Amino acid sequence: KKVYLNGEILDSHDAKISVFDRGFLFGDGIYEVMVQLENGIFYKKAHLDRLQDNLDKISILFDVRDIDDALIGLLSASGLSQKSSLIYMQVTRGIAPRKHAYPKGAAASVMMYALPYELPPINPKRMKAIIESDFRWHRCDIKSISLLGNIMTNEAAMESGNDEAALVRNGILTEGSHTNIFFVRDGTVITHPADEHILNGITRKIVLQLCGELGIPVMERPLREEEIPDMDEAFFTGTTTQIASISQLGDHSFGHGDEVGRTTKKLQGAFALLREKDTAE
Ligand code: PMP
Repeated sequence: KKVYLNGEILDSHDAKISVFDRGFLFGDGIYEVMVQLENGIFYKKAHLDRLQDNLDKISILFDVRDIDDALIGLLSASGLSQKSSLIYMQVTRGIAPRKHAYPKGAAASVMMYALPYELPPINPKRMKAIIESDFRWHRCDIKSISLLGNIMTNEAAMESGNDEAALVRNGILTEGSHTNIFFVRDGTVITHPADEHILNGITRKIVLQLCGELGIPVMERPLREEEIPDMDEAFFTGTTTQIASISQLGDHSFGHGDEVGRTTKKLQGAFALLREKDTAE
């Protein structure tokens, strides 16, 4: 397995990082996950733009344009040029004596790897989710590598035999542990506004754009937990989740068996078509 680390492509066991890296000590870094399909990296520019925005938000000095060329080299060294793969990248604030305040002059640490990964045409599985308290911080818009709240709530889902945890803060459904959440009522798509309580998912943005193209009305508004039984459909979105119908949310069921709701199905169909296009730019 090959890893890109600070300008070099190395065998994964030779890729070493200092214990004083702020990513290791503080979780002080930003990450991205993207997938490469036959037609290139799916929404590559959107992912890299978000990475740059996030780095800017926390004042890590790094220009993501440096990643583009490195990515080609990494994919080639990994034997994955133009092959279906999953790409992980993270940029941390770099190596410095352990003090909370941002160090002056530390160089960001950049790490990336790519793995063979076959994304199914569209997520065929309906997902079951528990409802968990969203006890994360108030800057969930930052794609921080510190993911304790996300992994703890996801673990609770796994332990209880579910596929995802839907998070509730002050009675309002924010998002999933690693996905955004959407509802459909009377043909209108409802999702949490892109504020500081959710990660503004690239897949979320794609879905909103598809709704526009398909003439599906959208409301970006907070949805209260008590409203769940009034909803006709629900789905999760994410880079690897794509658009996944929700069959069970807490003690509420949507539809029966494998039956995916009408609007969810329409969006899944439109999403599948996008995958045949070159969306990298
Ligand atoms: N919310 C959270 C908390 C996530 O971790 C993710 C996946 N990284 C998403 C939403 C979905 O984002 P995207 O569609 O960009 O993968």
